[in-house]
Amino acid sequence: MRRSGLCAVVSNFRLFFKSRRCRGRMARSWEPYGSKPRMKRVDLFESQIRRRMAANHLGIILDEFSRDLESAGYLRCNIQKYLRIAEHFGNWLKRRHLPPEKITSKVIDQFVHRHLPRCRCPKPAPTTAQRCRTALHRLLELLQKRGLIVQRHEPLTPIDRLIGRFDHYMLQVCGLSDASRRVFRRNSRQFLLWRFRKRALRLEQIHRSDLVRFVGYRAKTLRPNSLKLLTTSLRSFLRFLQTEGRVKPTLLAAVPSLPAWEKSKAPLTLSRKQLANLLRSFNRSTSLGRRDYAMTLCMTDLGLRLSEVAHLSLEDLDWRQATLRLAKTKTGRERLLPLPSRLGRALASYFRHGRPSTALKSVFLCHHFPRGTPMRTSQIRYAIQKAYIHAGIPATRIHLLRHSFATNLHQHGTGVKELADLLGHQSLESTTIYTRVNLPQLRMVAMPWPRTTT
Ligand SMILES: [Zn+2]
Repeated sequence: MRRSGLCAVVSNFRLFFKSRRCRGRMARSWEPYGSKPRMKRVDLFESQIRRRMAANHLGIILDEFSRDLESAGYLRCNIQKYLRIAEHFGNWLKRRHLPPEKITSKVIDQFVHRHLPRCRCPKPAPTTAQRCRTALHRLLELLQKRGLIVQRHEPLTPIDRLIGRFDHYMLQVCGLSDASRRVFRRNSRQFLLWRFRKRALRLEQIHRSDLVRFVGYRAKTLRPNSLKLLTTSLRSFLRFLQTEGRVKPTLLAAVPSLPAWEKSKAPLTLSRKQLANLLRSFNRSTSLGRRDYAMTLCMTDLGLRLSEVAHLSLEDLDWRQATLRLAKTKTGRERLLPLPSRLGRALASYFRHGRPSTALKSVFLCHHFPRGTPMRTSQIRYAIQKAYIHAGIPATRIHLLRHSFATNLHQHGTGVKELADLLGHQSLESTTIYTRVNLPQLRMVAMPWPRTTT
């Protein structure tokens, strides 16, 4: 049937607008409009991009990069973003007369930290630092994997070697988790770089005043909790240096002790109504909704940490016994938890009608970016924060769900010891904060208010 003139004009206008707005997009963007003459324009458009890519300093590598991303399950729109970043990077390399074989993580850092903030390149030239870093490290990985560039290891500095030994000490002697070790390593490195800059690493020159000045300097930008973590990291690092006989034992006492203001407060929790609204906010007719609902239940019904949800594996679930085994925990100790029926049903629904098919054992997987890879903690946090917004909850902290779970249990009579076991706390001190919000019990022990008689 012939379309009316007005309809054709509107359609052409949409096509024109889309072509202006989406300059540089792949053919997929045009598919909804897919009549024959338009497909010709798409081919032409694609060939223009291909010519531009071929003329780029990275040339044929971009084609290889595109295929690598496609096989890894990236969406076409994300492949396009990554290719634009690589194209931008290629132009910058050309101006600096750097051949592709010279690409290293240091060169990528220079591009991200020095060029991007003052980039004046012609469009399209993406400048989002985080995305550029991720895309270019993916490109570097591909180049190394395919042998297109030789993997060069930067020579280790004395600080690198010392931090490496400290990491070994934290793992083997202290049994700290990956996340804690990462923070401790970062804080200790920052202290050494601040203290010695480019001078020789002479640990015997560290004075008590250095530690006080460093904590004072970092206190200007860090929040109380992060500052407390910094002092804990420094103490651990100094203890390690003591075991190596590199510093005096008295130095440890010089790290300022900070008051634990956070622990003096009652933990923030969500009300029952807010929790119900949150769980109702997921659209469980979609695969994403089923996944996000099940992830949230892991926290509201079992009090799991974000990292514990991210590390859940299919092998951790025992359907016959209705248990969930947590192998990778913050404290490094395995935990066996009962699997609540509501969570069990949500997981079964996600496995049957949502989870992408893959050989990976991770329970929660990415559906888009790239499809079928395990969810990272940042992605889980983002999904739940979006649900907070839909449910009208004015909060961003995901740990509120764990606090709410613990508080509810304590108010229903669960003892502090059982709660500590469920939450995986190493010390009971961490669990006692939930006794501060148990208002019914606090009312029972409250003394009557003194009255004066007249
Ligand atoms: Zn630029």
